[in-house]
Amino acid sequence: MNIVLYPDEPLQCVAAPIETFGPKLEKAATRMLEVMYENEGVGLAAPQVGLAQRFFVCHDPESDPMCLVNPEIIDMEGAEIGDEGCLSLPQIYAPVERAARIRVRALDLEGTPLDFEAQGLLARIIQHETDHLDGRIFLDRVDILTRQSKLKEWEELRASPAFGEMQS
Ligand SMILES: [Zn+2]
Repeated sequence: MNIVLYPDEPLQCVAAPIETFGPKLEKAATRMLEVMYENEGVGLAAPQVGLAQRFFVCHDPESDPMCLVNPEIIDMEGAEIGDEGCLSLPQIYAPVERAARIRVRALDLEGTPLDFEAQGLLARIIQHETDHLDGRIFLDRVDILTRQSKLKEWEELRASPAFGEMQS
């Protein structure tokens, strides 16, 4: 399982809802959590490992790790700006405005419905990861000048020999 780097195609597609629950999904989620920890991330969405499916794993240090399947953000309140990065564009960071509080509906790995509210870092992670399921990255949420300069920074980084060595 490898992390897909921007702008590779899986990151720009709308992922399909999960309809089948079972060992295959559990195995993918477990492996994704491992990959996320190995890369010191706090969230990883299925499209980031090349799976065009609507689920992600995340771990806000203040709560337990979780896997959300077919997540929907059904309510948003307030706004907060915070720095974000992404395992698909490592070393690139930008301030992104997100809702401060959200209400989420999703399923867990067994298909059990969840309905909860989140705020702070967890709300930010869920918004960032849900965007991935719709083919969006965090740089789609910043102003055009920031977006251009960050994408340029990323292109240069990705093309640099040092980055190639780091990835291998
Ligand atoms: Zn991301």
